[in-house]
Amino acid sequence: MSTDVQTIRPDDSDAGRGRLPAIRTQLLIGGRWREPATTPGRSSVLTVSDPATGESLAEVADATVVEAAEAIEAASGAFETWPRTAPRYRADLLRAAFDLLMERTHEFATVITSEMGKPLAESLAEVRYSGEFLRWFAEEAVRTSGTTRTAPDGAALHMTIRQPVGPALLITPWNFPLAMATRKIAPALAAGCTVVLKPAEETPLTALLFAELLETVGVPPGVVNVLTTSQPAPVVFRILDDRRIRKLSFTGSTEVGRILLAASATGVRRASMELGGNAPFIVFDDADIESAVEGAVIAKLRNGGQSCVAANRFIIDRRVADEFVTRFADRLRAQVVGSGFDPATTLGPMVSRKQRDRAADLIRSTVDRGATTVVASEVVDGSAFLGPVLLDNVDLDAPIAQQEIFGPVAPIYRVDSQEEALDVASNTDAGLVGFAYSRDAARLMRVATALECGMVGLNRGLVSDASAPFGGIKQSGLGREGSEVGLHEYLETKYISHPFPVV
Ligand code: ADP
Repeated sequence: MSTDVQTIRPDDSDAGRGRLPAIRTQLLIGGRWREPATTPGRSSVLTVSDPATGESLAEVADATVVEAAEAIEAASGAFETWPRTAPRYRADLLRAAFDLLMERTHEFATVITSEMGKPLAESLAEVRYSGEFLRWFAEEAVRTSGTTRTAPDGAALHMTIRQPVGPALLITPWNFPLAMATRKIAPALAAGCTVVLKPAEETPLTALLFAELLETVGVPPGVVNVLTTSQPAPVVFRILDDRRIRKLSFTGSTEVGRILLAASATGVRRASMELGGNAPFIVFDDADIESAVEGAVIAKLRNGGQSCVAANRFIIDRRVADEFVTRFADRLRAQVVGSGFDPATTLGPMVSRKQRDRAADLIRSTVDRGATTVVASEVVDGSAFLGPVLLDNVDLDAPIAQQEIFGPVAPIYRVDSQEEALDVASNTDAGLVGFAYSRDAARLMRVATALECGMVGLNRGLVSDASAPFGGIKQSGLGREGSEVGLHEYLETKYISHPFPVV
């Protein structure tokens, strides 16, 4: 079996077109798959829809606070033994999960495209990206190190060791249903934490299938528990109410992140927050325009623009703006919008009609503020599809400048200088990622240092990588995921002091 990145042949995309594999749709609590308690007057199932058609795909268990309490018990119970397992054992389980996921890449990709809508080729890429977190943290699990230091007065030896923070609540969004789960579960398990995973209500099937995969490779009962629910607030608040849960890792909107961070404060709980972005994509007058357009297409259209690292503001030097806009427009017009299972499709439906309507409203308000429409999209009532849209000469005071678009809409802001570009780029509460294009390496380094964000892409439109610290500053979040830093989010540092010299 090959463990390296696989080459996907085009005809692979036909193999399982839209056919969902068998997926357990109950809740996974303490190693048992079970139905939620029935509450009079409340449905005990959550319906999952196909964004391309709006039709029902499946029904999964709809957890309540009762199961939330049981999941806390299960995660706390498993935490009595899991941290004491050998790091090598945990590493081997994660590596086995990676190997099995790579064998089942197509099956997982089919589920992602079915419930989330992205083209199958992108889902295949997501599965491989997700796998990289399992492989990376399998490697990191055996590398947690501490330090020793002689105290400055010579009287003591100071040592540090790292220990798992405790049972963790992991909350994931719908845009990368598998990658956001492995990016949290893999470091948590590597560190010795047990988890309760609460996937987004739009995309629970991928999470359930992945939980089953973890069971298959031998992750012990209670180490990973999964609660799917249509009512995230009461379930999540019930869990955050319990002091045994020592860690919250959340990826989602800044609005919900703020609420959960406040709720976490009562328990003085460790929190990692990956929140919204408003990425500037700067093209200077000395940039290679062809390469900038290539990067712009990736930074804007990957995942249909439904990503917190999607380019949200194209800040273009006026001297090259006409050329950039013309070439970018050609590339946007060439996109094929359709079902994610059609091999010709390059842009699938948005995740829901609600999200499509939100993006359409944003387009309307931007045009009302005087923007020029260079590439337009039809907006069909009752459908979740939206084609690429390019808006030029956008007013810096238009609402779109301060909102995360989360769709295939590209606004162009024309600027006259590097200074103006940086001013515009920083004029936001968000600080996740920024992109810059120039042929001048020294200029790029100055810009990268000045940009107010946690990640910078220089002459490239994609920064996500399991080996790199992903995360933001300002209101884009707290903490980092991926790299060795991602593991530290699940570890506490304990300092031990002993008289020195030790006799
Ligand atoms: P998006 O707008 O991208 O759907 P959200 O922040 O609403 O982002 O959702 C991200 C995750 O947060 C999902 O798992 C969702 O179920 C959960 N969530 C949404 N609202 C709440 C809430 N009030 N309390 C707890 N979790 C929530």
